[in-house]
Amino acid sequence: MALIVKKEECTGCGICIDVCPYKGIKLNSAGIAEVTENCILCGQCVDSCPAGALYIEEKKQEREKQSYSGVMVFIEHEFNKVHSVSFELLGKGKKIADELKVPLYAMIIGDQINNIIEEVKNYDADIIYAVSAPWLSDYQTKPYIIEAENIIKLAKPEIVLIGATTLGRDFAGALATRLETGLTADCTELSIDKEKGLLLQTRPAFGGNIMATITCPYKRPQMATVRPKVMPMPQKIFRADCKVIQMLPVSSHKDLDLELIDFLPDTIGKVNIAEADIIVSGGRGMKGPENFSMLFELAELLGGAVGASRAAVDSGWIPYAHQVGQTGRTVRPKLYIACGISGAIQHLAGMQTSEVIVAINKDPEAPIFKIANYGIVGDLFKVVPEMIRQIKERKSKNS
Ligand SMILES: Cc1cc2nc3c(=O)[nH]c(=O)nc-3n(C[C@H](O)[C@H](O)[C@H](O)COP(=O)(O)OP(=O)(O)OC[C@H]3O[C@@H](n4cnc5c(N)ncnc54)[C@H](O)[C@@H]3O)c2cc1C
Repeated sequence: MALIVKKEECTGCGICIDVCPYKGIKLNSAGIAEVTENCILCGQCVDSCPAGALYIEEKKQEREKQSYSGVMVFIEHEFNKVHSVSFELLGKGKKIADELKVPLYAMIIGDQINNIIEEVKNYDADIIYAVSAPWLSDYQTKPYIIEAENIIKLAKPEIVLIGATTLGRDFAGALATRLETGLTADCTELSIDKEKGLLLQTRPAFGGNIMATITCPYKRPQMATVRPKVMPMPQKIFRADCKVIQMLPVSSHKDLDLELIDFLPDTIGKVNIAEADIIVSGGRGMKGPENFSMLFELAELLGGAVGASRAAVDSGWIPYAHQVGQTGRTVRPKLYIACGISGAIQHLAGMQTSEVIVAINKDPEAPIFKIANYGIVGDLFKVVPEMIRQIKERKSKNS
């Protein structure tokens, strides 16, 4: 792919030089536009040239692009358990595949993965590409991307979707680099531009103040990571005709850069707000760490977990593992109770897809009320203890 100047049509007006942020084009001694080594092929000069003297030659790329078809989901698993984000992505992937009228693929890399293959068959994939070897039992970047590259080169999917988990972020970045293609991290929405056949990858940008939609027009596959809980969990649809292609491994144990000595469970896992059906969350309105005890009490009565805004976390009132929002966890519980949280866009980014949102805030103008299903305008120090009292009362009556 290259930026081409049609010399006979260039008027030497210099507009292309003004719009290029990279110094990727200059005027030569004859007063004609000339491409420099800084050009990143962003195409801004092409769009701005009034004489139509610039174009990006992409014929080879086009041909190559057309040989890619299908949507592939990377199945993340640890300790023989598939991460729920992979099922969410199979659901979204199926919708995209149907729109494009292409197959849905799943890619499973690991060791002794038969039960994982059987589980994935419940999520409507047309073909599962699986590779199994003892050295692939625990995730490590190098052997996993070697296997993924091999699968992608065979299946040639036009879209690859990966969970934006710690593992997924590591894997996706390394794989996109190896495949020399683009990657949009942390997408919150995916859709298709049917006319151009492009994946529209939307994610928050500039501190969450704008939503940016990013495309990958020139390279294939188009790769995106999506946070857990952003996409809904699909219904199970068992596909008896789902084809499983067992690949021979192309990596070897020599590709393991690290030796796993022991596995120590992360204490953060204990909080697990991402999996909770009910979350009681506290913000700056909680006034101090000691007051979170009433949120823990309410959460326990409801069988839920405790979340927090960044303001509460930054104040040191509660550990980061509880943080909900753009730089914390994305959650999608059945019930989210926001106590003393104003509803900043960065907080909403992590919880606005909750099924039912209850907001308790003394300020009737607080933005959280705009997305709340139930709003309680009042002092949380009166409302929360009253909720606890009434729940206890009902529980004791029922027992
Ligand atoms: C790049 C970036 C990333 C960010 N990521 C996150 C993120 O992941 N998560 C996140 O939460 N924030 C995030 N933020 C911060 C975010 O912008 C807000 O500052 C933060 O969410 C505010 O937290 P809060 O609602 O608890 O506090 P405030 O905005 O101060 O709101 C406190 C609320 O409590 C109410 N209140 C006070 N006393 C009482 C009472 N007695 N009873 C009832 N209500 C009361 C007030 O009326 C007020 O509405 C991010 C910011 C940036 C720039």
